[in-house]
Amino acid sequence: MKHQFNYCPNCATPLQQISQEEDGGAKVRTRCPACEWTHWNNPTPVLAAVIELADREGQVLLARNAAWPGKFFGLITGFMEAGETPMDGIAREVAEETSLQVDSLKLIGVYEFKRMNQVIIAYHAVARGEIVLSPELAEYKTIPPAEVKCWPAGTGQAMADWLVSRGITPQWLDLPPRRPTE
Ligand SMILES: [Zn+2]
Repeated sequence: MKHQFNYCPNCATPLQQISQEEDGGAKVRTRCPACEWTHWNNPTPVLAAVIELADREGQVLLARNAAWPGKFFGLITGFMEAGETPMDGIAREVAEETSLQVDSLKLIGVYEFKRMNQVIIAYHAVARGEIVLSPELAEYKTIPPAEVKCWPAGTGQAMADWLVSRGITPQWLDLPPRRPTE
């Protein structure tokens, strides 16, 4: 999410686009002319989980966010809380959003989500228990991994990378995203 500040949160002076020397050279940023507060606009880390259901023959869980338009099902995601580790955070998010208990976690990878100014930290979570969705999620489905259709976004790439790690050639809903290495 790109936050738009109009006034300095430190001293309430109207902010301006000001060029200033930084380690990488001069850079225009939203800055306060009075107290030199700078809106760095650094990407926010977002945690995501490919959930493998230990008590449903290893099917994966995809969920549809109540706020999303259409019928798109994706990974369980959430923001880290101050003071928690990424692994604590994703175990907490999985429990809060699905009621599942996480048995184990393994990092899949780290992905960009430039449009939202986020960085996605994706884990493979083995989880078990009864699925009870939080109000944030409208519905879920469980699918054998080989039948999952990946989607062209960071979380979809995480899903695809996890499938590849399982020896499964990912299927894509749409064209696969172009990767910088290709
Ligand atoms: Zn200020």
